[in-house]
Amino acid sequence: MRKWFVYSDKYVVDLGNHPFRTIKYKLVYEKLLKENVLKEEEVLEPEMIDFNEILIVHKKEYIDDLKNLRITRRTMYSELPLNKEIIDMFLLACDGTYKASKLALENNYAFHCGGGFHHSYEDHAEGFCYLNDIAYAIKKINLKTAVIDLDVHQGNGTAHIFRNDKNVFTLSIHQEWLYPIPKEKSDLDIGLEENTDDETYLNILADALNKVSHFNPEFIIYVAGADVYFDDMLASLKLTKEGIRKRDEMVIKFAYDRKIPIVVVLAGGYSRKVEDLIEIHSNTAKVLKSFKWNT
Ligand SMILES: [Zn+2]
Repeated sequence: MRKWFVYSDKYVVDLGNHPFRTIKYKLVYEKLLKENVLKEEEVLEPEMIDFNEILIVHKKEYIDDLKNLRITRRTMYSELPLNKEIIDMFLLACDGTYKASKLALENNYAFHCGGGFHHSYEDHAEGFCYLNDIAYAIKKINLKTAVIDLDVHQGNGTAHIFRNDKNVFTLSIHQEWLYPIPKEKSDLDIGLEENTDDETYLNILADALNKVSHFNPEFIIYVAGADVYFDDMLASLKLTKEGIRKRDEMVIKFAYDRKIPIVVVLAGGYSRKVEDLIEIHSNTAKVLKSFKWNT
């Protein structure tokens, strides 16, 4: 049986009372198993990587701070606690996105039920992100890659890491008047107004994908943040679940039609009701699975 889903129970870590509910990873995984979208045999577990491996993305002083759990100007803007369990989760997630990328290169698609930590920079943490799993996978895979980042927050860390890399195209569609401010420069940034609805969003996305096609990527990382949802606590777009499902379908169809391997990572999502968040992330996996990949 082909593996297409990467997940670890160790992604669930205690952050205290925090908008980032790591239990979501386990709940999405269990929902997909229960609904027969996923079978146990199709799941690949990430492995722990060594701090040295992460030096392909991150600076040594920053890694030393993480290794020694030191609160410094490099680690303090994570907005997360700093302990071994949490740092281990980020190390695992780096391997998770890399392993999912390798699966996608074999079978055209894969889903990482984790990752998408796009606010992490080479030399510091930000916005709930210590290590940038997207950048780690891109550096390891080393193909002409397009990052389609549709989390509601700009992928500032990823944009900065690849600002001078012609082999990586970063697209970010985000809410303009929202963290991060100021923003970094992606290859293509689209800042949306508050209250942007499904129709407007999907039209903008179609246009942006058209621009990605001119780059001719060999590989796509889709950062499928759920925080574009209308009932999100940290943002104020107006997308419905159906609109987000169409968004997913549009991005995945883009890759499918062009036979470009695609890996999906979860990224953010802070809906008031946790059930909504789980449904939105699960829908993304369902859409991915609904394509006839190997025929
Ligand atoms: Zn976000």
